[in-house]
Amino acid sequence: MSKSMYSPEELKRALLLAIPMSIMTGMCVQFLNAPATGGGGMNTAEISKLVAAEVQAGMLQMSTQSYNTALGGGQKYPPVKTLPDGERLRILITGGAGFVGSNLVDRLMAAGHSIIVLDNMFTGRKKNIAHWLGHPHFELLVHDVTQPLLLEIDQIYHLACPASPPHYQFNPIKTIKTSTEGTMNMLGLTKRVGARILLTSTSEVYGDPEVTPQKETYWGNVNPIGPRACYDEGKRVAETMMYAYEKQAGVEVRVARIFNTFGPRMHPNDGRVVSNFIIQCLQGKDITIYGPGTQTRSFQYVDDLVSGLVALMNGDYSQPVNLGNPDEYTINDFATLIKESTNSKSEIHHLPATKDDPRQRKPDITLAKTQIGWQPKVTVKEGLAKTIAYFQGELHANGEIIPTGSDAVRPRAVKSQNSSPKVFTPP
Ligand code: NAD
Ligand code: UDP
Repeated sequence: MSKSMYSPEELKRALLLAIPMSIMTGMCVQFLNAPATGGGGMNTAEISKLVAAEVQAGMLQMSTQSYNTALGGGQKYPPVKTLPDGERLRILITGGAGFVGSNLVDRLMAAGHSIIVLDNMFTGRKKNIAHWLGHPHFELLVHDVTQPLLLEIDQIYHLACPASPPHYQFNPIKTIKTSTEGTMNMLGLTKRVGARILLTSTSEVYGDPEVTPQKETYWGNVNPIGPRACYDEGKRVAETMMYAYEKQAGVEVRVARIFNTFGPRMHPNDGRVVSNFIIQCLQGKDITIYGPGTQTRSFQYVDDLVSGLVALMNGDYSQPVNLGNPDEYTINDFATLIKESTNSKSEIHHLPATKDDPRQRKPDITLAKTQIGWQPKVTVKEGLAKTIAYFQGELHANGEIIPTGSDAVRPRAVKSQNSSPKVFTPP
C-alpha cells in the first residue's frame, strides 16, 4: 500500500511556499488570457486557459517537489503501487530514456512493476528518467541494442530507435542496424527467457500512402532507397522479424504502428513539427513549413499512446495495430492552431519540401477499438496545452532554443546560449 509522502508539517510549509508561487502564476494566467493579437477565431481563449492551468499546475508541483527534497534532504520518488511479488513483472524498456519511453516508464513504475531501461543516449536524456534513479524497482543500463544482452525479464517494450527525420537520417547505417540487429538481439533475448515483446513500429511503414485512412491491411508505398528508407524499411524488416520469430520459434509478439505523437519530454531539438512550431511560436521566430503545407498528419497525445501500448502488450491480439488519433490536420492549419494557442506573432515561412514527405497520414483505428479496447481520450487541444507548458519550462530553464531544420543532424544538447542563464520573456 502506498502511504502519503508528506508529513502534516511538510504539507503546512509547502502550502506557505505555494502562496507566493500562486501570485506569480496568477500573473502568468493574466498574461496568457490576454486576447489574441491576430486572426482570432479557433477558441483561442479556451486553449490559452488550458495552457495557463497547465503552467500553474506545473509550477506548483515543481515548487512543492523541490521544497520537499530540501526538507527531507534525500531523494523522494513519485508514488508507486505495491504489488505482490507474483504480480510484479520485470519489464525491459529499450529506448526508455527517450520521449515515449520515459512516459511509459512512469506509467509502469507507478503500476508497481520492476523496470530496466536500456538506452544508448543517442536521442534520450538522463533527465527524462532522473526522478527514478536509485529507486529499488528501477535500473538504467547505458547500452546499445545492436550489442547482445543477457537478462532475465518477463516483457520487453522495444522502442530503441531515433524517431525524428533529422536524427534518424544523421547516421542511416546506424538507424538500419538499430532496427535490424537491435530487434534481432531483443527477439533472441525474448526467445531465450520465454518473455513477450512489443515492437514500436510506425505509420512510416505505409510510406506515402495512396489510401486514406490507413488500415493495417495496407501494404504501403515506400521508396526503398530514399532518405526515409533507413527508418521505414528498418521498421518494416523489424516487423518481418517479429512474425518470423512468432511463426518459427513461438515467440509472443505485439506490434504497434504508431502515428505522430507529441507531449512533454519531446526533445526540443528533434526538428519534428510539433516541437518546432511550438518553440518557434513561443520565441516569436518564423514558423517553418516545408513545402506547400497541404500535407496532413494526425496527432495523438503521449498519454493515450502509453495506454495503447500497455493494452496491446497485455491483450491477446498479436497482429499489427495502429495507435493514433484520427484527428487530421494540414500542416498549414496546424501552424495556425499553434500560433493561436501560444498567442504568438510569429510569421509563417515556407521552405522547400523535403524528399518523400508523405502527403497524407490518418490512422484507421477500428482494430485498436475492437481488439484491445483502446481509443484516444485526450483532444489535440488539451494535449497541446500541456505540451506548450512543457516547452515554456524548457525555455525558462535553458534560454533561447534554436529549432532544428530539415537537414540530417546529430541531436544537439539544449543549453543556454550565454554563460549566464537567459530568462525567457514570453512574446
Ligand atoms: P526518441 O528519439 O525520443 O527515443 C528513442 C530512444 O531510443 C532514445 O532514448 C535513444 O537514445 C534510444 N536509442 C536509439 N538508438 C538506440 C540504440 N541503438 N541502442 C539503444 N538505445 C537507442 O523517440 P520517440 O519519439 O520516443 O520514439 C520511440 C519509439 O516509438 C521509436 O521506436 C519510434 O520509431 C517509435 N515511434 C514514435 C513516433 C512518434 O511520433 N514519437 C511515431 C512512430 C513511431
Ligand atoms: N514539418 C514542417 N516544418 C517543420 C517540421 C516539420 O513543415 O519545422 C512538416 C514535415 O515536412 C512533415 C510534417 O511536418 O510534412 C511532420 O513532420 P515530422 O518531422 O514531425 O514527422 P513525420 O511525420 O514527417 O515523420
